Amino acid sequence: MLTETQLRTATGDELRTLRSRIFEELRRRDLEGVPGEETPSPPSRKSGREVIDQKGGNGRWLKLERVKCGKPRCKKCADGVGHGPYYYLYLTNPKTGRYTSKYVGKPANITEEMRQEFGIEVEDLEV
Ligand SMILES: [Zn+2]
Repeated sequence: MLTETQLRTATGDELRTLRSRIFEELRRRDLEGVPGEETPSPPSRKSGREVIDQKGGNGRWLKLERVKCGKPRCKKCADGVGHGPYYYLYLTNPKTGRYTSKYVGKPANITEEMRQEFGIEVEDLEV
């Protein structure tokens, strides 16, 4: 890990490169899912996540979740509100039976295909 001195002395460009690398890594982890979620359906929530809504079945779920970022000084998390809510698509890998989750995000990112698959009306997405 980087020390505070290394962060302080880094240039803005270096920090921006670092930030995008961190985002890429977080995205990769989000796409590949979290190990240990092999329980039968429906998928168990990840730690620090509150499931507000859940649709689907047969190996595919669309879940609306509030997320705790885990930063010690985050006011939203300290208040118990957390971040979001954000949508996540949960899929079962047919070969391994493992769940993977995919970040969807805001209601606007839900595609027409997803709305049809999960039986969601456009009006339901005005979160
Ligand atoms: Zn937070």
